[in-house]
Amino acid sequence: MFGSSYRSQRHSASSVSPFRSRKSQAPKPHASKGPLTSSSASSSRFPSSHATAPAAPTSTSSGVRPLPVYSTVPEQAESCKIKENVTVTVRFRPLSPREINKGDEIAWYADGDSIVRNEHNPSVSYGFDRVFGPATTTRHVYDVAAEHIISGAMKGIDGTVFAYGVTSSGKTHTMHGEQKSPGVIPLAVKDVFGIIQETPGREFLLRVSYLEIYNEVINDLLDPTGQNLKIREDAEGTYVEGIKEEVVLSPAHVPSLIAAGEEHRHVGSNNINLLSSRSHTNFTLTIESSPHGENEGEDVTLSQLHLIDLTGSESSKTETTGLRRKEGSYINKSLLTLGTVISKLTDGKATHIPYRDSKLTRFLQSSLSGHGRISVICTVTPASSNSEETHNTLKFAHRSKHVEVKASQNMIMDEKSLIKKYQKEISSLKEELNQLKLGMMGNSYTNSSAEEEYVNLKLQLEAGQVKLQSRLEEEEEAKAALMGRIQRLTKLILVSTKNSMSTNIPDRPSYHRHHSFREDEIISKITQ
Ligand code: ADP
Ligand code: MG
Repeated sequence: MFGSSYRSQRHSASSVSPFRSRKSQAPKPHASKGPLTSSSASSSRFPSSHATAPAAPTSTSSGVRPLPVYSTVPEQAESCKIKENVTVTVRFRPLSPREINKGDEIAWYADGDSIVRNEHNPSVSYGFDRVFGPATTTRHVYDVAAEHIISGAMKGIDGTVFAYGVTSSGKTHTMHGEQKSPGVIPLAVKDVFGIIQETPGREFLLRVSYLEIYNEVINDLLDPTGQNLKIREDAEGTYVEGIKEEVVLSPAHVPSLIAAGEEHRHVGSNNINLLSSRSHTNFTLTIESSPHGENEGEDVTLSQLHLIDLTGSESSKTETTGLRRKEGSYINKSLLTLGTVISKLTDGKATHIPYRDSKLTRFLQSSLSGHGRISVICTVTPASSNSEETHNTLKFAHRSKHVEVKASQNMIMDEKSLIKKYQKEISSLKEELNQLKLGMMGNSYTNSSAEEEYVNLKLQLEAGQVKLQSRLEEEEEAKAALMGRIQRLTKLILVSTKNSMSTNIPDRPSYHRHHSFREDEIISKITQ
């Protein structure tokens, strides 16, 4: 019933069923269509990862399974590539005023669209799906590195976008951004509501959770009492027990949730001039959808979109005090395990993948283990003073490139879907309301047969006008309560304001339409 909860999760507006069953035949919307040359796409939209000089670690892609990292398989092997890989991009930020002041020079630079090259040793270079130079806008980064993850999530395919890099390299700028340069999270939320508006044939239910992993402890940023939460596993994968989820009704709702969450974060200073975040944060959008209208109730999909701002990947030797050193070792535990897990995933022969070795990898297990889409945006500074750390980031990015994912759509085939539950509840409440309106059902006669009811009604009529009056009032109250419940439930389900019944979810919402998402516009009017 409304208000109960599955998996002991806490919800502000509702209970939640994160139940999901995975469709065995997975669509692969971004899989390569055919043979590729060494310089063409590793997926249909990106140039493949490849080294451009013999001195550089050579990355190749195989058609059958991922190849070991740093193998020296000839580049022609890439022509066999048929499987979808993780998207790995590198984003340079401009030299900061601080770096310029201390005389930093350019040590690494973007050589074209897909290569990072070392300024001092040009034979050292790495190839990625895409490399963004320092002038690239976050909007462009989003379009290339995140948009397909978001549109996939709207179709039921889990997605994870994370920003990896040292402190001050641009992770938060990329994921959260600022007012004048919104990051991946606000752009994704805007797209999600745009897609809902462009998909009149389906109705959606959106929930948000926001957590941090600090010193290997998971804390709920939407509920400060949710500390040290545990990761559990069931048939559908891993989940955080007890995490609060907020149902969101409009894009404007999300920034306020994040801002409130940020207040609860652990931050620390590992440099006198630098306030850096000491925790990984994960913003999760859970998306449920089902056909709207005639086909109501069929094929409900549920997917999760994880947008992750990792803590700085710098080595712990920069940590000075005891506490910071402890933090550093925990931070490295999560990031090192992420590195290990990713390189094991790339090694087709690895039998044990140590997801359980860190909270981050355990939390990401479902996404990393091959069902979802992954995009790694590695942020780097071109500065010479950070050259070694940038090189480490590039190596990490290079290893990540070999993760093979088989994106699959999550379909909910049973009754545990929250959206389905709401739909059923709404229709049974409507039925109840109709009965009440017809005067066929009294509060105290629900189980009576028609005959008994007749006798009862007769008795009641005989009991006089006063009693009848009070019963009418009771019925009015019950009717008002039912209508209130119908309205509350209906408000949680989002549908397009368009009339067309197309059930196809567009890959990209049109940007010419009006983006006015006042709540009264997006709230479904299905009771009318
Ligand atoms: P991180 O989260 O990796 O520690 P931040 O995102 O906080 O780093 O970035 C550090 C500083 O650099 C911030 O002042 C940010 O605005 C700036 N910055 C980062 N990336 C860019 C970029 N691509 N263009 C312009 N400024 C950037
Ligand atoms: Mg940051």
